[in-house]
Amino acid sequence: MRIVVLAGGIGGARFLRGLKAAAPDADITVIGNTGDDIHLFGLKVCPDLDTVMYTLGGGINEEQGWGRSDETFQVKAELAAYGVGPEWFGLGDRDFATHIVRTQMLSAGYPLSAVTEALCERWQPGVRLLPMSDDRVETHVAVELDGERKAIHFQEYWVRLRACVDALAVVPVGAEQAKPAPGVLEAIAAADVVLFPPSNPVVSVGTILAVPGIREAIAEAGVPVVGLSPIVGDAPVRGMADKVLAAVGVESGAAAVAEHYGSGLLDGWLVDTVDADSVARVEAAGIRSRAVPLMMTDTDATAAMAREALALAEEVRA
Ligand code: GDP
Ligand code: CA
Repeated sequence: MRIVVLAGGIGGARFLRGLKAAAPDADITVIGNTGDDIHLFGLKVCPDLDTVMYTLGGGINEEQGWGRSDETFQVKAELAAYGVGPEWFGLGDRDFATHIVRTQMLSAGYPLSAVTEALCERWQPGVRLLPMSDDRVETHVAVELDGERKAIHFQEYWVRLRACVDALAVVPVGAEQAKPAPGVLEAIAAADVVLFPPSNPVVSVGTILAVPGIREAIAEAGVPVVGLSPIVGDAPVRGMADKVLAAVGVESGAAAVAEHYGSGLLDGWLVDTVDADSVARVEAAGIRSRAVPLMMTDTDATAAMAREALALAEEVRA
């Protein structure tokens, strides 16, 4: 079975670990969000691709959900001693090596897709990890700070400001001109099922869908498209997805997110058991829905979620 998954960082990566356990023989292609990418200290950092790569490759800091395990921060401290920041973005010594290799290869002329493949040779994530695009796309968030409206990089909004002010708009800068990376449209066209993990619907899955051609390819693939809600009991399980949902006029709720994707894209939508009463609303929107436990507490629980998603896909296919 060929499965395509549109993934952000932590939510996407943890789900993929369960999916691999649930479908060990499946051929899984991950289309990763690169809208969170940022240049720091002259290096290209791809947080979501790295979170997927480290999580599936066994190098992730489990408690944190991002960054390397057994990490130290000497380079960052030395940079700070020179007065060189930003100090708000956590880049550890082990992690730095990944960004140095990536930047070196990009400078030598390799596209991000080829660089990602090379990095994955070390990590062996057990999936084919593709960036959504080789072109630069950067998510910016419009905010009002000190009485002034301005656009800041998504990482500055999320990591530095901890989303403490309202997001007035979310703009994937460059997306309109971006082309899907090599293999992305081919993987979608060849897929038996497309899954949206419980990733951020705006700044992860939404950004991937903003690359012209990807949304259309999924809608036209003629295969089941099933998603899992990142919102449980009207709140994101982790992070501040409610802030960016508000920016696009979507309430923070499992059913609202399904309606936001719409029946033109989604065939099936899993909500958590605490949101069982939203199943009827999702189905009224023309999307098959079921309430099952959606907390990724460990790999077994996550694998059970993946099995439910695949079962729902078979149900809508029939
Ligand atoms: P990010 O790029 O690291 O922010 O990660 P993603 O976009 O892939 O995923 C973030 C989303 O995952 C957040 O909106 C969370 O609500 C959601 N999430 C995290 N853990 C869980 C979980 O255990 N269950 C569900 N249903 N959602 C989760
Ligand atoms: Ca992210």
